[in-house]
Amino acid sequence: MSHIAFIGLGHMGGPMAANLLKAGHRLSVFDLTPAALEAAVALGATAAPSAVHAVTGADIVISMLPASQHVESLYLDEGRLIYSIDPNALILECSTISPEAARRVHAAACARGIAMLDAPVSGGTAGAAAGTLTFIVGGESGHLERARPVLEKMGKNLFHAGAAGAGQVAKICNNMLLAVHMAGTAEALGLGVANGLDPAVLSDIMRVSSGGNWSLEKYNPWPGVMENVPASRQYEGGFGVDLMLKDLGLAMEAALASKASTPLGSLARNLYALHSSQGAGKLDFSSIQQLISHKK
Ligand code: NAD
Repeated sequence: MSHIAFIGLGHMGGPMAANLLKAGHRLSVFDLTPAALEAAVALGATAAPSAVHAVTGADIVISMLPASQHVESLYLDEGRLIYSIDPNALILECSTISPEAARRVHAAACARGIAMLDAPVSGGTAGAAAGTLTFIVGGESGHLERARPVLEKMGKNLFHAGAAGAGQVAKICNNMLLAVHMAGTAEALGLGVANGLDPAVLSDIMRVSSGGNWSLEKYNPWPGVMENVPASRQYEGGFGVDLMLKDLGLAMEAALASKASTPLGSLARNLYALHSSQGAGKLDFSSIQQLISHKK
């Protein structure tokens, strides 16, 4: 069993760490939020007073933070964590961040001889809790084989997307598509309801018809249609609007840099920006239904 440092115990990191504890790993954990730390300690983790304390003596370092600036600040800038990690350790950076930020951390890790993978995830909070996440990995394939036993305790699909940063590129493409089909699903449900349809009946029809998609199957945005999704608990928990807005911004940056055409991604980014500006930033991203249907 490994000694794992786990930094960032939010909606995703909390349940991911819980699965590693369940599998028998020893965890030193750190988060800026005391409640998140306490929840992990209740499951058997040891709370560290700082990220530096958490990584001291760890074989594996996992981070699950909101965005690029948090990751770069932790590893390279104020935190300078890269200098406290054992050169024989393996870093699994699981946050969704820009490919460039991931490559900067990779380069700093490599300069110290530390193995690193960018390993962003898909599958949402339900996948994190069930241990069925998809890991989309960038970095050396040998490092992935080393990481596999640990990643398999948190996820069921592991993909090697390519070299350092490639995991982030694939993740950004996926989330742009997710935003587009979530907004499209909300729009179709809004249209149906405005024309007298029951949203549950319409969802059943579209789910097994040519409009079927992940949002309809697993994450219906209309309140009350599906149990155990954020739409049925006032859009609380889940994947925040501001995190989706961040990911769409990363997609737009990548599109600019590569001259790729992403018209629907651009529209989705604008919809999420508008939704966030109206105070919905902390709600789950399926709350785009509220913006589209003008309902609270
Ligand atoms: P979150 O905001 O719930 O959790 C982030 C945690 O990081 C918080 O507990 C915060 O206190 C902590 N944190 C921030 N800076 C820190 C620091 N310097 N040191 C220690 N802890 C720090 O976010 P989340 O929903 O868990 O998402 C985490 C990442 O996973 C994001 O990059 C997100 O885009 C990605 N993601 C989220 C989902 C989802 O469904 N929520 C799905 C896939 C990927």
